[in-house]
Amino acid sequence: MTLSHNLGFPRIGVNRELKRAVEAYWKGVIDGDELGRRGRELRARHWQQQAQSGLDFVPVGDFSWYDHVLDTSMMLGAVPPRFRNDGESINLDTCFRMARGRAPSGRPTTACEMTKWFDSNYHYIVPEFSQEQSFNLACEKLFEEVAEAQALGYKVKPVVLGPVSYLWLGKSKDNEFDRLQLLDRLLPVYGEILNRLKTLGVEWLQIDEPVLVLDLPVAWRRAIESSYHHLQVKGLNVLLTTYFGSLGNNLHLACNLPVAGLHVDAVRGRDQLTSIVDHLPVYKVLSVGLIDGRNIWRSDLDRMIATLNPIKKRLKDRLWLAPSCSLLHVPVDLDKEQQLDTELKSWLAFACQKLDELNVLKQVFSPEQEAMTKPLQALKEARTVVRSRVGSPRIHRDDVINRQQNIDVEMFNRRSDYAQRAAKQREQLALPDYPTTTIGSFPQTIEIRRVRRAYKQGEMSQQDYETHIRKEIAEIVAQQEELGLDVLVHGEPERNDMVEYFGEQLDGFAFTENGWVQSYGSRCVKPPIIYGDVKRQSDMTVEWACYARSLTNKPMKGMLTGPVTMLQWSFVRDDQPRSETCQQIALALRDEVLALERAGIQVIQIDEPAFREGLPLKRREWHAYLQWAVDAFRLSSAGVKNETQIHTHMCYAEFNDIIDAIARLDADVITIETSRSDMELLNAFTDFQYPNEIGPGVYDIHSPNVPTVEQMVTLLKRAASCIPAQRLWVNPDCGLKTRGWTEVKAGLLNMVAAARQLRTESAMLE
Ligand code: GLN
Ligand code: ZN
Repeated sequence: MTLSHNLGFPRIGVNRELKRAVEAYWKGVIDGDELGRRGRELRARHWQQQAQSGLDFVPVGDFSWYDHVLDTSMMLGAVPPRFRNDGESINLDTCFRMARGRAPSGRPTTACEMTKWFDSNYHYIVPEFSQEQSFNLACEKLFEEVAEAQALGYKVKPVVLGPVSYLWLGKSKDNEFDRLQLLDRLLPVYGEILNRLKTLGVEWLQIDEPVLVLDLPVAWRRAIESSYHHLQVKGLNVLLTTYFGSLGNNLHLACNLPVAGLHVDAVRGRDQLTSIVDHLPVYKVLSVGLIDGRNIWRSDLDRMIATLNPIKKRLKDRLWLAPSCSLLHVPVDLDKEQQLDTELKSWLAFACQKLDELNVLKQVFSPEQEAMTKPLQALKEARTVVRSRVGSPRIHRDDVINRQQNIDVEMFNRRSDYAQRAAKQREQLALPDYPTTTIGSFPQTIEIRRVRRAYKQGEMSQQDYETHIRKEIAEIVAQQEELGLDVLVHGEPERNDMVEYFGEQLDGFAFTENGWVQSYGSRCVKPPIIYGDVKRQSDMTVEWACYARSLTNKPMKGMLTGPVTMLQWSFVRDDQPRSETCQQIALALRDEVLALERAGIQVIQIDEPAFREGLPLKRREWHAYLQWAVDAFRLSSAGVKNETQIHTHMCYAEFNDIIDAIARLDADVITIETSRSDMELLNAFTDFQYPNEIGPGVYDIHSPNVPTVEQMVTLLKRAASCIPAQRLWVNPDCGLKTRGWTEVKAGLLNMVAAARQLRTESAMLE
């Protein structure tokens, strides 16, 4: 017998039922009882779907109202005092208060921080620890859900986030201290959890320790070891799960922990499989995750069977099968897609289809279980489909490949170095010192969303649509002139999403109707699918940019999404390296950049907000990534004349460890987020002596507050103390699309006034 299991199922629901339910609760439209009922319904459906596809256990504990790391904090009683109402026990509203700073009950307060879950686009709520932190078993959610699934007749495998990963993912609040000090206080609570689960009749418990795929400091490796020596409960088997990468140097450690089983990500860690089998003690189960939980392609089952055959021979019944990681990161059900053509659809597998694939694999390795006809049939079908994709003319385009092969090294370099370009650009653009600009988008009103939707659904003619968008652009341009900004933008009213807008116009991209994936809380995203060679058919932004330019004498900035961000926020081909796909996108963008330049646009911004999040989890892989990512950006931008000013934008504040790569982008201007960190990050730019121009954001657009002139002047002066004034720009932290017009006008007016004040003051000094 080969058993199969799943590490986690998408909790959001095929029709985003969870999103609807929690949002209705937040608005007071439904009460806690109704919310509870809807949650139970979703869980029951998901367990049923998973059991039907032949899993030997269903996961319990993967469901969450908001985030599973937050659930862990609640279970462990790690709830900072500001979220606790007097005398109240930890409940649903505590959870929402921590996540959002507010809940139907209790007073509003500052929410916990949120950050990316490893290298995925899922965001978790960062646990906050104080040095006096204590832990106690404070929430019954997991046990209640275990009982709930058992009552429905399922064999359950609860899922918990392991103690070491939990501490790793958290942060010390107030003063810096070593979070590992907390481990001794944490382990007894985990012990209690294990005992409770055993009492409930649980045989196997999944404990996630994804940190085992990172480069762990020695102390943290030791912490893993001591934790699992501590966490032993007779009669309760622990399956220790790792995912999102190979075990790397932690292979011996992971194989030899005193647990009953180990799960490994065999998609990203395929190379280590044999070595793991060699090192695994003979009593242990090995769960092999060959079905890709991070991407949406149909599996090459033949190849998987070939990989598994020798392992099965050695491990026999100790081989288990699973997806590589939780299916949280893929959409729920492909059957919901009505618009994708049959061929493309046949190449894909979402969560439900992945479990079907898993079932086929399982049956192949447990022939005694059933007659083999069904799986053989499925295998045959999968084979045909996988082959059809490999050879498909839809994917491979000779013109794109030829162009890639003919890339000349000079294509990565601007014609002259920054100093020469800057002189030319200054002459051309005639900008004042401390030039002001924005990051691109302006408030997206309900009206503008309505217009886009109506056009998309065919309820509005192209002509009417264009009239609306032009009117909007004209207003945005007039507004910027009135505010006195120096480099204007068209405002992006035609864009629903900065990746989707370009993907829809490029060959090689496809879009789903319902391929939602949880991003954070009730927020979902629908990543595009890059299935084939990427090619630009025609201009994508030129017309709007030119229209905007015709309305003003000020420089108009063209606005593009960069190659790395397009790649990072999509489901990407698995049949060629990411770097190849990125290069194809870069070539397409290069053409757009040149088209903008030909059309008279003198400033072009190529946004790369996802540049940093593309960094691999293991440090030794950073170099290669940064190499091709920087190259892709340069390929897209370097074709222009010296006079044309290239901007880039990144909306975060951690640059210290990648500053040399940022410099290598060789953008003439980079705008970044800084206002909340009081310009602290500029240290990175001064220590390194960043050579080009910088616009450190002085207006925090994540908050509805309007910064005062004085606040912004202070920030700018701080910035001017580390960056020469001639290279300093004045701009907000990020795009203004989520803000309202009133605050934006007030904020930008103050920002322009702040820039003017600095100009006057420096003129007086001269
Ligand atoms: N140009 C985009 C905007 O202003 C940039 C968005 C981003 O950085 N995420 O909306
Ligand atoms: Zn941004």
